[in-house]
Amino acid sequence: MGKGGKGKGKDKGGGKGKGKVKGKGKDGGKKGGKGGKGGKGKGKKGAFKVVIEAHRHEGVFISKGKDDSLVTRNMAPGESVYGEKRLVAEPEEGSEEKIEYRVWNPFRSKLGAGIVGGIGAMPIKPGSKVLYLGGASGTTVSHVSDMIGPEGVVYAVEFSHRSGRDLTNMAKRRPNVVPIVEDARQPQRYRMLIGMVDVIFSDVAQPDQARIVTLNASFFLKNGGWVVISIKANCVDSTAAPEAVFAMEVDKLRKDGCKPKEQLTLEPYHRDHALVTGIYRAAKKKKDD
Ligand code: SAM
Repeated sequence: MGKGGKGKGKDKGGGKGKGKVKGKGKDGGKKGGKGGKGGKGKGKKGAFKVVIEAHRHEGVFISKGKDDSLVTRNMAPGESVYGEKRLVAEPEEGSEEKIEYRVWNPFRSKLGAGIVGGIGAMPIKPGSKVLYLGGASGTTVSHVSDMIGPEGVVYAVEFSHRSGRDLTNMAKRRPNVVPIVEDARQPQRYRMLIGMVDVIFSDVAQPDQARIVTLNASFFLKNGGWVVISIKANCVDSTAAPEAVFAMEVDKLRKDGCKPKEQLTLEPYHRDHALVTGIYRAAKKKKDD
């Protein structure tokens, strides 16, 4: 299982590598639940300075401070999605543009936990086309929207109408999010809405998730595209040991054409969860390569 991840890459999403930012405490004091970090700096009336650095995964940043926190560049400046803290960067010299970032709480997001936990390769990057299964109210979808930036698109499928309403509202200020209130087991119902994608991310917490993912892959994922799956062990089999469940799920994916690349525990943020990545219909290596 290889390791990917680049150094400080280009950011089509527009973020610069470094910058001083001032905190804007627009979250009403909430720090995004358990483990919410995000610039606790004290000083004059909520203003504090932290430094923003590019993360080794493109489209993700780190706010340096007493506690480092993961942040993404806000596609919809002025808005929080789930009560998360926002940080506004001072314009760089010669520029008037203020850049706003949102703190990404790994306790609220499996993808965020995977990045904080050190996932080696992250196929979701500026410009990516992503099919997201299990979008819920859009907590993680909103960070994916930030990561991929204006040149990317995330199709977010969610079958609960209640969550779908929040997802749809969130998408109003994010032109790169296409909310789809449908059952991910029925991709033929939304095939007219989606083009081919680079990545499928899935967090549906269903026992047949592996089948749901490969079914969607057969409709929408390009050959050599990536699957990134969050597995909650007791959703698949509550009687087996989590490690055995993860191995079983990886095996199912392999049988359906996904070459496993990485498996990462999401502890301590999400108990008995793993993030698994793989490449769909990976090109076969030539013998003389
Ligand atoms: N990924 C979300 C986030 O980080 O913000 C949380 C997802 S939550 C664990 C699982 C979601 O999958 C629920 O909102 C549930 O309604 C949705 N879901 C479950 N089965 C589904 C299906 N067959 N099709 C679409 N959505 C499904």
